[in-house]
Amino acid sequence: MAAKVHATTMQAAQVHRFGQALVLAEIERPEPGPGQILVRTEACGVCHTDLHAAQGDWPLKPALPFTPGHEGIGIVVALGAGVAGGRSGVREGDRVGVPWLYSACGHCEFCLAAREPVCDQAQFGGYTRNGGFAEYIVADPGYVARIPAGLSPRAAAPLICAGVTSYKGLKETVARPGEWVVVSGVGGLGHLAVQYARAMGLKVCAVDVDDGKLAHATRLGAEAVVNARGDDPVAEVRKATGGGAHGALITAPSLPAFAQGVAMTRKHGTCVLVGLPPGEFPTPLFDVVARCITVRGSFVGNRRDMAEALAFGAAGAVHADIELQPLSAINEVFTRLAAGQVPSRVVLDFAA
Ligand code: NAD
Ligand code: ZN
Ligand code: ZN
Repeated sequence: MAAKVHATTMQAAQVHRFGQALVLAEIERPEPGPGQILVRTEACGVCHTDLHAAQGDWPLKPALPFTPGHEGIGIVVALGAGVAGGRSGVREGDRVGVPWLYSACGHCEFCLAAREPVCDQAQFGGYTRNGGFAEYIVADPGYVARIPAGLSPRAAAPLICAGVTSYKGLKETVARPGEWVVVSGVGGLGHLAVQYARAMGLKVCAVDVDDGKLAHATRLGAEAVVNARGDDPVAEVRKATGGGAHGALITAPSLPAFAQGVAMTRKHGTCVLVGLPPGEFPTPLFDVVARCITVRGSFVGNRRDMAEALAFGAAGAVHADIELQPLSAINEVFTRLAAGQVPSRVVLDFAA
């Protein structure tokens, strides 16, 4: 497609129908309304969630058409009415990220407890609000991620979803330094989870179905790796960790990984679910009760988790492995992501 961009239009990749290819088109460039900002996109990561969104995998579906993308990083180029000098402190020229947690009410019991991802009024970037698979994004200045100086937009992009979700999920395992965590699924989230876990002083047993991804996990510091397609992966993990992992983080977008993850968890340990394949998984009640296992969900992170997750990146303790692609390649990227053929994270590069 010709790169002719009219001043009031922009390139975007949108979902018109669930389960079908995204439509690349020149659409009207949005204006920031009162209390909103306009961000010129520099880079946007492609999360497996974008694929679930485009396939209409979940009970609450986004209204069509919509623009996916919740790892968009860019520069603030315009402020809507009331933003200048306001409480958010966001100014033109700032570099921000427009995350999955697009906005929340700020006043409910969950928001007041810094649990804004579960606010009933929360909006989600690239889902209930248009996201970063476009040259411009309208955002809420109160909820954008502030990108630390020294972190490039491409390097920051995966951290604002895959990074914060992995980091928060590891905190939710309540595993302590020196203890074991299983990281199940070593893709976009998991390859960062291995690094956050190492930086947090945890020992990592990585689990995936792909030997290439397991080799990558070893390079990133995993002390043990187990192929989930092996004869008895649960026994292998229990052996490698001396009785099961104190914490397990299940990022795999695959149902069998969930029951396996619960069984890989040590007595009195915590299995944190973050992967979101549609469906349900069997929970062996006797094992969970008699082994005193905690099973909990974890949904992205709050704004403080976001700042912490980015700080690990800025300090060089965590580094996203990225493959750059242009926006026009999004449908091929989705096909590869669905087939497990993306090594770590694709980032759409808007400077291309
Ligand atoms: P990804 O495709 O980049 O990585 C998935 C990895 O899981 C791949 O390495 C794949 O080989 C591996 N895998 C597949 N089947 C497996 C199995 N049975 N056992 C072990 N590993 C297996 O995906 P991603 O972007 O990392 O996202 C992963 C999941 O997390 C998606 O379902 C996504 O929607 C979800 N997600 C949840 C949150 C949240 O807040 N809870 C946030 C972001 C993403
Ligand atoms: Zn995501
Ligand atoms: Zn709220």
